[in-house]
Amino acid sequence: MSLMSNLKGRQKSKVYTIEECLSCGQKTKRAFQSGDFVYKVGGECTKCKGKMKIAMIYGEKVEE
Ligand SMILES: [Zn+2]
Repeated sequence: MSLMSNLKGRQKSKVYTIEECLSCGQKTKRAFQSGDFVYKVGGECTKCKGKMKIAMIYGEKVEE
C-alpha cells in the first residue's frame, strides 16, 4: 500500500441564498435556486408579508 489516503471525506459545497426583508429586516436562509442573484427582489416575508431582497449568495463547504 503506497497510496496516502488524503482523500477521505469528500468535500462538497452547497450554495445558499440569504434574503432580507425590506420592511422588517428579517433574514431568511434558503437553498440557492437558479435565477437567484444579489439584490433581486422576489420573495415574501413570512413575518410581515413585505418584499424580500436577496442580500447575499454564498457557498458553504459540506463534509460528508
Ligand atoms: Zn418582514
